[in-house]
Amino acid sequence: MAQTDAVKRDRRRRRRLRLLIFATLFFSTLILMIACVVMGIRLHTVKGELREAQAALSDRTAVTDQAERASRQAAEDTEASLYTVSEVDEYERVGIGDMESGEEDAAARKVYLTFDDGPSGNTGRILDILAEYDVKATFFVVGKEEEEYRVLYKRIVDEGHTLAMHSYSHRYNEIYQSLESFSTDLSRLQEFLYDTTGVWCRYVRFPGGSSNTVSKVDMHELIGYLDDQDMSYFDWNISSGDATSGYISPDTIIRNCTAKLGEYDEAIILLHDASEKDSTVEALPGLIEAILAMDDTKILPITEDTERIHHISNE
Ligand SMILES: [Zn+2]
Repeated sequence: MAQTDAVKRDRRRRRRLRLLIFATLFFSTLILMIACVVMGIRLHTVKGELREAQAALSDRTAVTDQAERASRQAAEDTEASLYTVSEVDEYERVGIGDMESGEEDAAARKVYLTFDDGPSGNTGRILDILAEYDVKATFFVVGKEEEEYRVLYKRIVDEGHTLAMHSYSHRYNEIYQSLESFSTDLSRLQEFLYDTTGVWCRYVRFPGGSSNTVSKVDMHELIGYLDDQDMSYFDWNISSGDATSGYISPDTIIRNCTAKLGEYDEAIILLHDASEKDSTVEALPGLIEAILAMDDTKILPITEDTERIHHISNE
């Protein structure tokens, strides 16, 4: 009997031991599995953080590269334009080999008289005065199909001036509506001028300049279009002030044009060719004389060699 009790106790002890071993194994496995899951989640998070850190680092590298490029460009720009001009400090100047080309031109100040918005009832008078002084200018014209104006486009070309494009309609709300409306207007003018004069015009002045604030299209998009079409645009660094709707005296126009002329190696002067702008015509002889009286100064029409004065950059 005593032996049977001992056997039973022994069995019970062994059963408890098996249970204990089983429980230990079960819980160890459970803890290991939980640990694995926790580690897995943690690893995932760390990987994510690592990716973010890498992205931030490459961004910073790109910014540094950009800054380096910008400062290199700025240094080159400063070198290329050995002069600083208060009025157009913020303007970009793209020299077309002006420093390298012709040493004989290096000392000369180049002045470009540019007339916007013609032809008009005053174009003939302007051309007469330019002929009298044997001076060549640049006309950024609009599209006017009447015979009286066709004669003037031809005169501009025949008398050696540069015929250039302003826009066919000069209606800001139409041309600056979209790239398509801009290009349609410009092509119409280019073809009309070609039919009328045989000149395929490639120089453009945006109505209101490239820095105008009325365009609904990003001006860089229009500039990109001109680049694609192998056309160049010219803004100005001196304004005659004759765009004003009120009266401006010829003396004021001359003063506006000449006051800062001495600061420029290349000056593009903005003038207007319009029927109601008699002051501009009256100012012209005095203006030409004042410019020609300056040392080492030439009045030239815009050509491939002319420095591109831009109010906003091409990029
Ligand atoms: Zn205009």
